[in-house]
Amino acid sequence: MRTSRFFLSTSKEAPAEAELVSHKLMLRAGLIKRLGSGLYTWMPLGLRVLRKVEAIVREEMDRAGAIELLMPAVIPAELWQESGRWDVFGPQMLKIKDRHERDFLFGPTHEEVITDIARKEIRSYRQLPVNFYQIQTKFRDEIRPRFGVMRAREFLMKDAYSFHADAASLDETYCAMYDTYSRIFTRLGLKFRAVAADTGAIGGSGSHEFHVLADSGEDAIAFCPNSDYAANVEMAEALPPTGSRPAPGQAMQEVATPGKHSIAEVSAFLGVPADKVVKTLIVKGEKGLIALLLRGDHALNEVKAGKLTGVFSPLTFASDAEVHAAVGCPPGSIGPVGLKLPIIADRALMNLADFVCGANAAGYHLTGVNFGRDLPEPMFADIRNVVEGDPSPDGKGQLGLCRGIEVGHIFKLGTKYSEALQAKFLDEQGKSQTMIMGCYGIGVSRIVAAAIEQGHDERGIVFPPSIAPFELAIVALGYRKNPAVKEAADALYNQLKAADIDVVLDDRDERPGVMFADMELIGVPHRVVVSERGLKEGQLEYQGRQDATATKLPQAEAAKQIE
Ligand code: ATP
Ligand code: MG
Ligand code: MG
Ligand code: MG
Repeated sequence: MRTSRFFLSTSKEAPAEAELVSHKLMLRAGLIKRLGSGLYTWMPLGLRVLRKVEAIVREEMDRAGAIELLMPAVIPAELWQESGRWDVFGPQMLKIKDRHERDFLFGPTHEEVITDIARKEIRSYRQLPVNFYQIQTKFRDEIRPRFGVMRAREFLMKDAYSFHADAASLDETYCAMYDTYSRIFTRLGLKFRAVAADTGAIGGSGSHEFHVLADSGEDAIAFCPNSDYAANVEMAEALPPTGSRPAPGQAMQEVATPGKHSIAEVSAFLGVPADKVVKTLIVKGEKGLIALLLRGDHALNEVKAGKLTGVFSPLTFASDAEVHAAVGCPPGSIGPVGLKLPIIADRALMNLADFVCGANAAGYHLTGVNFGRDLPEPMFADIRNVVEGDPSPDGKGQLGLCRGIEVGHIFKLGTKYSEALQAKFLDEQGKSQTMIMGCYGIGVSRIVAAAIEQGHDERGIVFPPSIAPFELAIVALGYRKNPAVKEAADALYNQLKAADIDVVLDDRDERPGVMFADMELIGVPHRVVVSERGLKEGQLEYQGRQDATATKLPQAEAAKQIE
C-alpha cells in the first residue's frame, strides 16, 4: 500500500467527548468515525486492523473444527417468542416492524436462530457433535454506549454454538474452545486472563470470561496470585441450579408478598436453604412483582445480631421510575429479569461493604452488575478494600483485585434452548433425545479498542504486530523530488511486498515530522527511512515503534535483514 493511494485521516486533537485513551487514539488515528450514539464507521485504516483480528479468530476457530456460516441479523419475533426471550431480554433488544406490521428484532445474539437450524438439519447422533460459528454484526441498545467501539450499540461479534449428544461431549468442546480462546488472545498479543463468570441473561451452567487486563476495564476481577483462581466479582457461581430459580420475568407475587409469605415458603420456591434467604425486596416491574434478594452468611450474621429484621423489606415500589430514583441508577439499567434487579436495588438498602461481602460470600454471589457501568466508579476502590487480602476460595493465597475488559465469553448452555425449541436427535438406540448446547462469543471489534488500552504511549498507538494496520512503514523523505530516493524506496517496497510483508510506503509530499508522527500515531511496529543523506552513505535507517533511537541499515542488505 502507498499512502498516496490510501486514505489516512489522522488528526492532532481528539474530540472532547472521548474519555478512554483507546477511544481518543482510534479517533485521532482515523480508525473509526462516529455516526451516532454507539454507531461507528470503520474507516479504511481501522478496517485493516479489524480484518486482521477477524482473520486470527477465524483461523483458530477453523483449526478447532468449528464450521463457519452466516445467519441473518434481522430475526422474526416468533423464534424469540418460542424461546421465551422476546419478553424478558429487556431494553437492550432492538425491536422492529416490517411493512406488514410483523415483529422482528435485530439480533443481539443468535441462540434461537442456530437452534432452529439444528432442529431442522440434525436428525441423528451421527451428525453430532457440531460447532457452528459466524462473524457478524450485532445490535444491543446499551444503556450507556461509551468508549467508542468498546461499548458500542452496533458491534462485530464472533459467536459459536455447539450441539452435543451428551454432557461429556459438551465438556470436550468447551475445553477445546477454552484452549482456542487462549491461543487467539495469545496470537493477538494481548495480556489476558480467563475468569469464572456469571452466565447473565443467556442462562446455563458453567461459564468463563476472557478479560484483557487494563485499568480502564469495566469489570472487577478477584484473583489469587498463587493459583489459577480468578472470578468476575459479578459471578453467580454458587446460585442454585437454574431449574430451582424463578424463570426470568416470572412474577413473584404469589410467592413473596410482604407480610403474606414466610421465609420457608420463599426458600422452598427458590430451592435454597432457608438461612440464605434473608431479605426480599419486592419491586413492581414490567411483568408484575419481581425480585428477590439473597444474602450470604455475612447478612445472616447481621440478622443474628439484630441489625436486619424481618424476612421481607417493607419497601414496595410502585413503578420502574420510582425504583430508578430510589437506587440512583439510570432508567434501563434495571431490566425486567428478576435476578438482575435486586442486586442493583440492593445498593440502596445496604452499605457498600455489605454489598461487596454479599457478593463475595461463600453462599451466594451477586450477579449481573458491571462495576463502572451499572454502579459509579468509586465502587472499585470500595470493592478493593473489602476483597483484597481476603483468603482465596481455593486456600492458595490472598485475593487481589484487578480490572478487565471482557473480550470473550464461553458458556455451557445445556438444554435451555434445545428444550424450548424442541431440538431433538435420535440416539444410538433410536431414542429421541434433546441436544445439549454450548455457546462461545468473542467481541471482535471490542478487541481493537482493548489492544490499544494495553498498547499506547504519548506518540500514539503501539499495536501488537499481528494486528497492526501495516507491519512496516517505509518513510521516503523527498519521494516526489528526489529520483534516487524514489528509486530506492520503490525497490525496497517491491522486495518486501514480494516477501509477503504488509508494507506501507509513505510517498506523500509531506514534512518528515508529519510522516513520522502519522506512522507512530497509527501504531506501525517497524519503520525504515529512506533519505537522500542516508543513501549517499549506502544506508537506510531502521527504528522499532518502541525503540528510543534509530539504527543504520545497509541499503544492500535491507530487504534481507527485514525479512
Ligand atoms: P458486557 O458484560 O461487556 O456487556 P456481555 O457479557 O453482555 O458483555 P456477551 O453476551 O458475553 O457480552 O457477548 C460476547 C462478547 O461480545 C463479549 O465478551 C464482548 O467482548 C462483546 N460485546 C458485548 N457487548 C458489546 C458491546 N456493547 N460493544 C462491543 N462488544 C461487545
Ligand atoms: Mg452486556
Ligand atoms: Mg459481561
Ligand atoms: Mg458476557
